[in-house]
Amino acid sequence: MSKAIITLNNICKVFDTELVETHALKNVSFEIHEGEFLSICGPSGCGKSTLLSILGLLDLPTTGQYFIHDVDASNLSLSEAAYLRNEKIGFVFQSFNLIDELSVYDNVALPMRYRKHKLSDAEVDKKVMECIAKVELTDRIEHKPNQLSGGQQQRISIARALVNEPSLLLVDEPTGNLDSRNAQMVMDTLNQLNKEGTTICMVTHDQHFADMATRFVHLFDGQITEQVASQKVAG
Ligand code: ADP
Ligand code: MG
Repeated sequence: MSKAIITLNNICKVFDTELVETHALKNVSFEIHEGEFLSICGPSGCGKSTLLSILGLLDLPTTGQYFIHDVDASNLSLSEAAYLRNEKIGFVFQSFNLIDELSVYDNVALPMRYRKHKLSDAEVDKKVMECIAKVELTDRIEHKPNQLSGGQQQRISIARALVNEPSLLLVDEPTGNLDSRNAQMVMDTLNQLNKEGTTICMVTHDQHFADMATRFVHLFDGQITEQVASQKVAG
């Protein structure tokens, strides 16, 4: 068995608002191993995005432990969390979140410009072109996001998530805004990346796409109800 990149132990998340206390996650524990394609599925409101925010160091659990590699990420300062997030994690969101004023090339290059250890323009260029080639959009580098189809925009957002060579790619409902043909192309891209070694954790409410992963965790009402290895053989 490959080693665990991510370990969650008894993660709870409570949202305390004036009127109600929402227990969004209740004692969630699992691991993500290197090279795995894990999907987290479950109905709307079951806690998927909350879990992804914690995995991506965008939010902290109320209680429980979270390790990335062997770093205890449960009690990091904001600046430590930001550093770890930029170095180790790539994000793909349902709504792409590309910057309309920037070209495809500059959108993909952006996370490299925020690195603590600056890289030369030649190093940035090499990596940006490599990641755009991986999603097969090299002929679109000069385009602006709104000149591309939804599926192409999502593939560019995948390229952007890959430029800093993250240990883990976190993907939230990547096909939610796409028609079925574009959704399939985005899923093919994710599958190919996983075969090449990228570790992926994807959230979806679509069972059809969840089944493409190598393992899935089913969430219901903030709790894990089952963890299943799929029939697919890990690439
Ligand atoms: P999913 O992504 O599975 O649809 P979420 O993780 O977005 O579910 O939400 C899980 C539960 O937590 C829901 O009941 C939601 O209303 C609640 N919740 C999520 N974020 C907040 C927040 N910032 N403040 C209060 N409640 C929240
Ligand atoms: Mg959600």
